[in-house]
Amino acid sequence: MISVSKLFQSFSISARVMVSTASVVGILLLWIIFFSVERQEMTIMAQNERTMTMMVTNVISALHTIMKAGYANIAHDFVTDIRKDKNIIDFKILRINGQEAFLDNKTVNDVNRRLGDEEFSSRDLEEVRQILDPKNPDLLWVNDNLRLLPRYIKSEGGRDLLIYLAPIINDEKCFRCHGREYRLRGVVQLTTSLTQAELDIAQTRYQALIMASAAVLFMLLLLYLMIRYSLVRPLGNVRDAMEMVAGGRLDMMIKVPGRDEISEIAKSFNTMIFKLRETYDGLHQEQDKLSTIILGALDGIVVTDGAQRVVLANPSAERMLGKDLKKIIDGGWENLIDDPEYMNAVLNRRGQEIPELVFYNNRAIKVHGATLLDEIKRPLGSAFMFRDVTEEKKLEDKLRLHAITDGLTQLYNRRFVDESLVKEVKRSQRYDHFFGFILFDVDHFKKFNDTYGHDQGDRVLQALARVMKEHFRIVDFPCRFGGEEFCVLLPDTDVTGVYIVAERFRRRVEQMEVDGLKVTVSIGIVAMPACEVNSPEELIKKADDALYEAKHKGRNQVCSATPIADGELPLDLR
Ligand code: GH3
Ligand code: MG
Ligand code: MG
Repeated sequence: MISVSKLFQSFSISARVMVSTASVVGILLLWIIFFSVERQEMTIMAQNERTMTMMVTNVISALHTIMKAGYANIAHDFVTDIRKDKNIIDFKILRINGQEAFLDNKTVNDVNRRLGDEEFSSRDLEEVRQILDPKNPDLLWVNDNLRLLPRYIKSEGGRDLLIYLAPIINDEKCFRCHGREYRLRGVVQLTTSLTQAELDIAQTRYQALIMASAAVLFMLLLLYLMIRYSLVRPLGNVRDAMEMVAGGRLDMMIKVPGRDEISEIAKSFNTMIFKLRETYDGLHQEQDKLSTIILGALDGIVVTDGAQRVVLANPSAERMLGKDLKKIIDGGWENLIDDPEYMNAVLNRRGQEIPELVFYNNRAIKVHGATLLDEIKRPLGSAFMFRDVTEEKKLEDKLRLHAITDGLTQLYNRRFVDESLVKEVKRSQRYDHFFGFILFDVDHFKKFNDTYGHDQGDRVLQALARVMKEHFRIVDFPCRFGGEEFCVLLPDTDVTGVYIVAERFRRRVEQMEVDGLKVTVSIGIVAMPACEVNSPEELIKKADDALYEAKHKGRNQVCSATPIADGELPLDLR
């Protein structure tokens, strides 16, 4: 159910003020009219009563005069004539016992008897009419007080009537005919209609109502104009201005018409807009700066809103990811590098290790992500930064390769061997993986150098390296261990495998010719886990021992740190 206050608020301010004022003023006016009309009614009634009283007094006085002159018949006619007046409904002369006079011969007989002659003639038709009870309180009151008594009553037909009971005093001049034992001769009962007075009152009420309605209407008109020009219009200007500001127009200014409250509002509004414009301009400048930074950044930047929708991607991001803005927005932040799992990990990186680099769109990219939260830890949005490190990565790889490559042979160097052995020994120990290690040394190389020169020796070492690269699998690591000593790391190769590949290599070197010259190599091998090894140093030591054994046994042969049954070897190698 709609409440009264809500209903009230659904009207405009002017309508509310009008309704409130009209109600208050209307009630006030009605109240004033009610009292003034009532007073007027009382005045009319009093005036009416005074007129009637005067009339009754005059009638009685006239009646007295006629009666004193001894013309009782004329008095009766006079009474009859008075009844014809339109304002007089009834006129009766009553005896003090309430009977109507002039209808029987009682008074005529009494007077004739008192005067001792037949001065007054009797009437032929006699009638007795008891108009009032002899004990009627009004009759008794008049008898006691000898004063006029007005009474307002309602007739049986519903008409308002004014009835007078007026005393006819038995004075000196009456004594001769009527004697002196009574103070009153009789009572006049005069009934007048209040119709005229009531008409006057009705007219007064009607006029008052017209006046009041006109006053209320006039006041409402004045009020309406006042509200319109002093409230509705200025407020409407403020509202229009606010709507325009809400629509983005910050160049609005409202006229300040005066010094009233609305003018104060207009002034405050103008100040607010001024400040707002200042802030807005400042923000705009900052935004321009930020946009310049973001758009011009070499790093790719992608921003999402609180609902995790992509709202911004700069040209670097488009270029780096190889997607246009629409594709980036449509794919969402999780598919920026087509790997939602990685992107989620980037965003929720809490100590978990994820690859520092991703390779996407033929590039090496570093991805950073962060979510901005509000004060109640709700996400406001996220930002992702993509740094293209392809060139750095290439350089780094180059440097790394350089650091682990032997300059003369282009094989992996000793540093690589040491680093790799740490990992491979651990791996083999932990997972019981096969791992083979071949260490070999050129036989009598000192002598070779001495005979053919150091350069020729270098060329031999380079030729050996080429053979190593050809001979071993792509997953193996041929390395220069130092000087004319070489080694090969063979992951996932058991002892037999290591022996076979070493022996075949030895035979191949045996066949090799460099500038018509030949060399041989002595080889020591170690295979894990067949050979128990606890450290890279121990591995090297065991390989070196096996190599020493090969040298000792006459060179140009393979020796293993662990024995190998002949039956496990192919026929050609037994
Ligand atoms: P063995 O059969 O016992 O190994 O005899 P060997 O003469 O080879 O003895 P050893 O291994 O001790 O000799 C190493 C020689 O290798 C010494 C050095 O002249 C030669 N050498 C070491 N590094 C290089 C190199 O980079 N280039 C050349 N040309 N010779 C090297
Ligand atoms: Mg040597
Ligand atoms: Mg040697």
